[in-house]
Amino acid sequence: MKKISLFPLVLVVSLLSSCALLPPERPDLIVQNSTISALSAGIYEGYTTFGTLRKFGDFGIGTFDNLDGEMVAVDGIFYQIRDNGIAYQAGDSMKTPFAVVTFFSPEIKLNLQKGMTYDDLRGKQSRYLDSPNMFYAIKIHGTFSSLKVRSVPVQSPPFRRLDQVLGSEQRVYEFSTARGVMVGFFCPQYASGINVPGLHFHFITDDRNAGGHVLDFVVEEAVIEIDEKTDIFLSLPLSNAFRKS
Ligand SMILES: [Zn+2]
Repeated sequence: MKKISLFPLVLVVSLLSSCALLPPERPDLIVQNSTISALSAGIYEGYTTFGTLRKFGDFGIGTFDNLDGEMVAVDGIFYQIRDNGIAYQAGDSMKTPFAVVTFFSPEIKLNLQKGMTYDDLRGKQSRYLDSPNMFYAIKIHGTFSSLKVRSVPVQSPPFRRLDQVLGSEQRVYEFSTARGVMVGFFCPQYASGINVPGLHFHFITDDRNAGGHVLDFVVEEAVIEIDEKTDIFLSLPLSNAFRKS
């Protein structure tokens, strides 16, 4: 009798524990944890493991539990760029409070002009992106004659707002030459509050040793690849910090 009564309980527990993320199977799906407005407000507690997240994308950006650095995922490997600017491979048991991932399958591949800056790319984004109302996953691989990135130091509660942390504690690194990949997204203006509107990239060097959130760049030679996304799955934090913020 005891065995029979235990079985359904075990089944329910295993079903519940696999329910953190259940996105539909759509080829052009972005899977997102939390909102940029929650992260900006200081909701830094991680709640989804990278072991779970990797099932829903091989490409993406985000951050870590307690804002412990910048996350960049490329070719299915997730990296943590800590505030020393160094990249470490993220373990499956580590958690994220904010992340955006997708399976990258670009439809467009183009060369970027030598000398192009981040501002130039923003100004010319309508040349590369079919519609300002769609979402795009974007990869830029190449050599940059100048590159400025930042990362953030791990925080402890009570958490301050993100702009306060960035204002006083972000660490900025400048490369005179860097070869590597920028991983990021374009989000429409109407997505403001859910995600960062416009372009947002994280960078990692080809040797996977260093990187960060991209502040500025100048292209030496680079290729841009673009993947239009039509579906979004949003998984919200269940914490009181989020519910009451
Ligand atoms: Zn970023």
